[in-house]
Amino acid sequence: PPSRKGTGSFIDVPKDLLKEIKHLEQLFTIDTAKLKEITDHFVHELEKGLSVEGGSIPMNPTWVMSYPTGYETGTFLALDMGGTNLRVCEITLTDQKSEFDIIQSKYRMPEELKTGDADELWEYIADCLLQFIETHHGDVTKLDKIPLGFTFSYPATQNYIDEGILQRWTKGFDIDGVEGHNVVPMFEAALQRRGVPIKLTALINDTTGTLIASAYTDTSMKIGCIFGTGCNAAYMEDCGSIPKLAHLNLPPETPMAINCEWGAFDNEHKVLPRTPYDEQIDNDSPRPGQQAFEKMIAGLYLGEIFRLVMVDLHDNREINIFANQDIEKLRRPYTLDSSFLSSIEEDPYENLSETADLFQNKLNISPNGPELELIRRTAELIGTRAARLSACGVAAISRKKGFKECHVGADGSVFNKYPHFKERGAAALREILDWPEKTNPKEDDPIEILAAEDGSGVGAALIAALTLQRVQSGNM
Ligand code: BGC
Ligand code: MG
Repeated sequence: PPSRKGTGSFIDVPKDLLKEIKHLEQLFTIDTAKLKEITDHFVHELEKGLSVEGGSIPMNPTWVMSYPTGYETGTFLALDMGGTNLRVCEITLTDQKSEFDIIQSKYRMPEELKTGDADELWEYIADCLLQFIETHHGDVTKLDKIPLGFTFSYPATQNYIDEGILQRWTKGFDIDGVEGHNVVPMFEAALQRRGVPIKLTALINDTTGTLIASAYTDTSMKIGCIFGTGCNAAYMEDCGSIPKLAHLNLPPETPMAINCEWGAFDNEHKVLPRTPYDEQIDNDSPRPGQQAFEKMIAGLYLGEIFRLVMVDLHDNREINIFANQDIEKLRRPYTLDSSFLSSIEEDPYENLSETADLFQNKLNISPNGPELELIRRTAELIGTRAARLSACGVAAISRKKGFKECHVGADGSVFNKYPHFKERGAAALREILDWPEKTNPKEDDPIEILAAEDGSGVGAALIAALTLQRVQSGNM
């Protein structure tokens, strides 16, 4: 069987295939100098997003205006409308510091809803909430309204915490009549039609939830990130550094969580080394020209990038992989999700037999030995690029805020499940920020990206609690 001694040295791989591997390596590898260049531009774009003129990164003020103390209490509902699932939770923040109880139900987001019509979306969500409350509390007509934190993980303009004007759909959603509108009245109308006893207290982004939930148990947490179906981050800014809020005359030291919406980084294509495959993903997406950074990194796209490479190598390149095989299944857009790439990268690499099985079962293709090498290397290149680019965003926020040491709370399927994502990201962060070699391998990095607490559950509940406290104390 073919075998490889470390990255880049292949045995028994024919020359023409090796040439393709080298070509892909050139396309997808981002060296240290480029990472630094991207990060420099990123810092600049973060600033621009906070300015009155604005830039391509929205940098949305969220009206989350403090960290939790750990002593918040109360019972809250949380609704998470993510890219893949719909989750309803009931969270009780207990009297004990930083402790909570949670019950939850997950509902699959039917694929048709993502491109269907707005009413169907809100009706479906209201039904899930109703079912949840009936299961846990019985007759809804006898209940007082329960406060809810709604995690709506799309870019939204907020003039208040209980408002969310959708700027644009991301993550493949494409529902007419919502962009440019406040989603809260639509959501509340659907609740009212069913008599669901809920009061929306706060509309939040998953990254803000992640930041706040993580800070609840670890006060070193200064950035909340999602590396999942989509990608994004939030951090706490001070109002004095947000020129676009200057007209509100808030005291300059007032904290304000900013939802960066960094998926939109480099929409103007100044710095990211996009490949023809990235361009094709963008062109074929429901929102071409949007989310340039996200489309190179996020879970929704990793499998699709891989698929486009494979189809190209079959159709257009001299090498003609999978020659004389029917690749009809491989031709279907978005048939491969990031878990497909994860499985390829998890194959223990003896003879890549697990990868061969995957291709057989999922795509009805039997790759030969050298093709398996190419498949594995392609997955590594795509996964590595995603992790390294992600580090640029974290480095940029850290640099902008002057964080020399902190924790970054991260959540999402790519962060939690994609093999080596964490290590590759940490290595890139070290390169970008010029940290010296560790003298002791057990030593912590100055800035560490760690698994977050549950942002769209506990984070949403905490933000609802902080909001009620603020309202009760008469502070905005
Ligand atoms: C959305 C963000 C969200 C991220 C992670 C992006 O597509 O625009 O609001 O935080 O996905 O879910
Ligand atoms: Mg989520």
